[in-house]
Amino acid sequence: MTETWKDASICPHCMTEDVVVASGPKNAQVLLIGAYPDERELVTGKPFTGNGGVILKAELGRVGLDIKQFRLVYLQHHVPNKNPACSALGVELAIAELTKYRQIVLLIGSEPVKFFCKKSVDDVNGLQVHSPMITQVSLVMACVSPASVFSKSVGELRFAIKQFNKALEEGMIK
Ligand SMILES: [Zn+2]
Repeated sequence: MTETWKDASICPHCMTEDVVVASGPKNAQVLLIGAYPDERELVTGKPFTGNGGVILKAELGRVGLDIKQFRLVYLQHHVPNKNPACSALGVELAIAELTKYRQIVLLIGSEPVKFFCKKSVDDVNGLQVHSPMITQVSLVMACVSPASVFSKSVGELRFAIKQFNKALEEGMIK
């Protein structure tokens, strides 16, 4: 993958889809991995700038965290389609973000939790999880999708963010 492609906003495989790439400080100790962009994020080109992102930012703010301090990426760089090359590139971009800087990874939503841990997010929300694919990081945690608050209560998301904040404090990352 070339820098030229990263500057462009179209997927090199399907050539039609707008893409969202990682954002936030490159050397951040914490990486948030979400599922895939919504319509607004395809316009901004940045993860967690859409409806779910607004909720997530508010919940992080409640415990004194600012999303700007974290590196952000999605498991898929555009809305999932049937092209396996698209999906492979999304995964490659997400995994590339697990660099030497990261200490804590928060997997947000059912797709990232299933992909990295082979578990249902409802079973591990707010808990530490293990992933054979994330070995270079000291702590991996799971969190429900912020969009879950539109269909059920905010309690689960709030619980996960509280546990995440506790982990940051214990890891002296906050
Ligand atoms: Zn594509």
